[in-house]
Amino acid sequence: MEHTDIAIVGAGLAGSLCAGMLGKKGVSHVLIDPREAYPDEFRCEKFNHQQIELLEETGLAKNVLSDLMPVKDVWMARFGRLVRKQHYPHYGFSYHQAVNAVRRHHVNQDNFKLGSVQSITCSGQEHIIETSDGTEISAKLVVLATGANAALQKQLGMSQEMLSERHCLAIGFDLEPETDFEFDTMTYWPESASGKMSYLTFFRTNTGWRANLFGYWNLKDPQIANLKSDPFRCLVSLMPNLEKITGRFSVTGKLRVRPINLYQWNANQVDGVVALGDAWSSSCPGAGTGTTKAMNDALLISKTFIPRWLEHGPMNADTLSEFYNAPRKLEIDTESIDEAYKLRHITLSKSLYWQAQRWARFLYHGMRGKLASG
Ligand SMILES: Cc1cc2nc3c(=O)[nH]c(=O)nc-3n(C[C@H](O)[C@H](O)[C@H](O)COP(=O)(O)OP(=O)(O)OC[C@H]3O[C@@H](n4cnc5c(N)ncnc54)[C@H](O)[C@@H]3O)c2cc1C
Repeated sequence: MEHTDIAIVGAGLAGSLCAGMLGKKGVSHVLIDPREAYPDEFRCEKFNHQQIELLEETGLAKNVLSDLMPVKDVWMARFGRLVRKQHYPHYGFSYHQAVNAVRRHHVNQDNFKLGSVQSITCSGQEHIIETSDGTEISAKLVVLATGANAALQKQLGMSQEMLSERHCLAIGFDLEPETDFEFDTMTYWPESASGKMSYLTFFRTNTGWRANLFGYWNLKDPQIANLKSDPFRCLVSLMPNLEKITGRFSVTGKLRVRPINLYQWNANQVDGVVALGDAWSSSCPGAGTGTTKAMNDALLISKTFIPRWLEHGPMNADTLSEFYNAPRKLEIDTESIDEAYKLRHITLSKSLYWQAQRWARFLYHGMRGKLASG
């Protein structure tokens, strides 16, 4: 049986960053995933400035960001008009490009094991991982970075708290403008609160134009069928003035529609296993906080806690709770949940308070835009 200090299960963003940082520190580890390369799946497609800073803090940003599309001009628009133009660095990409860039540049292939982990069992101070082909690996600590796949948490007897079932929908699609857009990225706010949409965002990637639409429809809502059958017409019916700022465009390729649950696993239970990123808690894609959480978790665990636990041990549930209770983790995780509910209220609530918030956001950015343009 192979022995290692740290077994990371799942080579998405959180797991791959963790492996890259542990590799730099010379910590013995393996990274296990059933797929040689991360496939083209719809997840986070933009890094904002906070996420870029976190990636830089990992020490792995340089080679990764150079594989993604940098964008500077950020437009905010409503009613077919530019409300504010901001300049700050941003990156557009397909999620698999970002994860595979981390894997390619920073994960040592000798530490990568191809396989799907089926079970984790505790044996004294060691934890035995078994993959689908019967391979066994023993580790002092197992880092669960398995995203939304709940199978291992269930096998370990962890319990999940469902915070908001079917919280929102995230929709992604490629598009081709008839005449190239003037902006690099644009966020378009809904023109009224009746359409259940939070916002639509367009951005450049290395492979062309991409858009994400976030809202609170259920999958059976006629709006979803309309979007699938005639996306441009449906978008214009949701945002009658959109075309004034974008011109005509066609939606190319498949519309990807993902319903999102907000959940969090309970932390108190298992010796020798710690969960990161979506394997710990999910986020609202419209709030754009999922990769912030995943990077923050990977940073904290790799740079602070794993070195400390390897030196002082023991890696029981009590010791591991230091990570879940770290002020920096609590702050980022709490903000992620707060932003998820805030976006939902600001989009859907008919109360005077939230209507005022909607208008305040519009007026605030409008004023800043006017001041900036002199
Ligand atoms: C549609 C959508 C849009 C989003 N948009 C945004 C956004 O705009 N901004 C933002 O910040 N966040 C966004 N998010 C959230 C963000 O993408 C996630 O929070 C983040 O990618 C989670 O990374 P992760 O590494 O935890 O999980 P993942 O990237 O899902 O990685 C999990 C890995 O675990 C592996 N795995 C699973 N089970 C096993 C097993 N048994 N054995 C071995 N390996 C296993 C999988 O193969 C995979 O490689 C979005 C999410 C979705 C779904």
